[in-house]
Amino acid sequence: MTTLTTDDWHTLAGTLQFKSQAFINGKYVDSTTGRTFSAISPIDGKLLTEVACCGEEDVNLAVKAAREAFEDGRWSGKPPAERKNILQKFAEIIRAHRNELALIETLDMGKPISDSTSIDVRAVANCFDWYGEAIDKVYDEIAPTAQNAVALVTKQPLGVVAAVVPWNFPMLMAAWKLAPALATGNSVVLKPAEQSSLSALRLAELALEAGIPAGVFNVVTGMGPETGRALGRHMDVDGLFFTGSTQVGKYFMEYSAQSNLKKLGLELGGKSPNIILASYRDTEHAARVSANAVFFNQGEMCTCPSRLIVEKSIHEQVVEVFKDVAKNYAPGDPLDPDTNMGAMVDNRHADRVMGFVDSAREEGADIVAGGQRARAESGGCYIEPTIFDNVDNSMTVAQQEIFGPMVSVIPVENAEEAVKVANDTCYGLASAVWTDDLSTAHKVSRAIRAGMVYVNCYDSDDMTVPFGGFKESGIGRDKSLHAFDKYTELKTTWINIGG
Ligand code: NAD
Repeated sequence: MTTLTTDDWHTLAGTLQFKSQAFINGKYVDSTTGRTFSAISPIDGKLLTEVACCGEEDVNLAVKAAREAFEDGRWSGKPPAERKNILQKFAEIIRAHRNELALIETLDMGKPISDSTSIDVRAVANCFDWYGEAIDKVYDEIAPTAQNAVALVTKQPLGVVAAVVPWNFPMLMAAWKLAPALATGNSVVLKPAEQSSLSALRLAELALEAGIPAGVFNVVTGMGPETGRALGRHMDVDGLFFTGSTQVGKYFMEYSAQSNLKKLGLELGGKSPNIILASYRDTEHAARVSANAVFFNQGEMCTCPSRLIVEKSIHEQVVEVFKDVAKNYAPGDPLDPDTNMGAMVDNRHADRVMGFVDSAREEGADIVAGGQRARAESGGCYIEPTIFDNVDNSMTVAQQEIFGPMVSVIPVENAEEAVKVANDTCYGLASAVWTDDLSTAHKVSRAIRAGMVYVNCYDSDDMTVPFGGFKESGIGRDKSLHAFDKYTELKTTWINIGG
């Protein structure tokens, strides 16, 4: 929660100084060619700053700095307890800069300021805290060999880790990778999305202030097909951890194959099914929670429950509740603490999202709420919360990830049909089922092919559980102790002790 008013936030926004150069080896630097790109705020279409546009040469410099830092042990060689202290200090510094970081995020990618402060910044600080706290409490193994040997199974950091992240939770998606990667002793090169580079650049400076040595955390800003590709194809990057679209995730597999077979982690798109059954005791509650989950963060959520699969007997009631909740998500000024629905990240994305309204209409769905752009006078990119009813699962709006505030309602006869529809997708990230019937809850959650199944809730979450998907939603998991596996290699050391 924030105690600042809309006017306070606008005043603060006017005084904000953005970091806009790449961050390599502990210093802000221009790109070697001097090229930049414009960071435009989706709130009002105004220029925030010009950001360094890094090419292959800049990526080489960042990877070299990260390699040197890794090899000389300035971070990788520190005892885990020391890395813990520094990561926890970093978390404290992030908390101390809450308003500044939240404001950067909101101005750069359009989400409501109340979400940036109470969700994004808080979760980022918690993430560094959690992995810092964990790293001096995990043990390696001794294998159960015969008496004449001691075989150690140890986890070692990969070395130079690259992270390429999207714009929907710019700092948080970076933190989910940075925190376990740094905790395990790696050096990192982060590439934020070009739509939202500014918070990562500020975070890098705060990391240095916390005591993470120069060269250990570098940020290269630029375009995906140039900067991201250069990291993906780099021969001296040991692991690349990506969050973004399924299409770009597939490119990273190619980059890895074409270069040094670097280890990959892919957190990709989703088209999450949310099944509401008549056997749940409170249809209204299920529908309210579900609608809030759809419209939260402008629907720019990989886990957005964008396919609402509902039993026919409660279909009408559920749609009425969705329409009612949609009224709370009228797009507003993202710097107003009462706004629930901010701006879409940019005009290109807003145009793409609006294209789904046309396709829904052409393919025969009913548009029962929204379907229009909003707040044209602001100069920003806003879209009304939108409900497509009577959707068939074969329609474009049921198959493609929209990544906007839109839901497709698919009526079904019963739980069996619901599961069939739920699994009829190339994705498998999140899912949900609402029922009070214990065996139905177990049967459906077992049958759904997805990395996460929520029963009688949606988007419930903390650092203790893995996050990631089946099928084309990705490979590997963020969060929880399992994330340490991504950023480490197992090493067997077999010691012959004779006898
Ligand atoms: P995107 O795939 O377009 O971009 C993600 C990152 O990849 C950006 O940094 C971008 O610059 C870079 N990139 C783009 N093209 C590239 C290329 N050819 N080579 C190398 N790098 C390239 O995704 P986006 O639009 O930023 O984010 C939305 C997507 O992210 C959605 O599909 C969403 O579901 C997904 N997402 C997934 C998770 C998850 O944990 N599974 C979380 C958040 C977002």
